[in-house]
Amino acid sequence: MDVCNFCLRPADRSNRLVMGPGVAICQECIGSASALVGDMAFDPELRSFSERLGGFTVEELSLSLPDIAKGVETAQERLTEWVAEMRRRDVSWATIAEHLGVTRQSAWERFSGKIKGSPEPDGS
Ligand SMILES: [Zn+2]
Repeated sequence: MDVCNFCLRPADRSNRLVMGPGVAICQECIGSASALVGDMAFDPELRSFSERLGGFTVEELSLSLPDIAKGVETAQERLTEWVAEMRRRDVSWATIAEHLGVTRQSAWERFSGKIKGSPEPDGS
């Protein structure tokens, strides 16, 4: 199912998704992001992600942790689907690895177990 990578809500008639390569964002999050970016332009306090992290309490960090973990999991699933689609189109492990910036062996080790019918890296 396609969900927003930011708030994890599925798409519906009132909240459509904009899809990018391996990611999706919903209308509501686009609105929030747009407002945030607009604010940031005038807010010298908001400099970097790590600086903003430092501004959260431990309780706030803890509350968001499950959503962050789910977001990473969703992104990993999308990446695997992406690689699987490339393999279905007979793109070699060497080419996939090159675009990921890793060795062919490590690309194969990372994805082949999650993709049905993956031949050995020596195969292609
Ligand atoms: Zn969203």
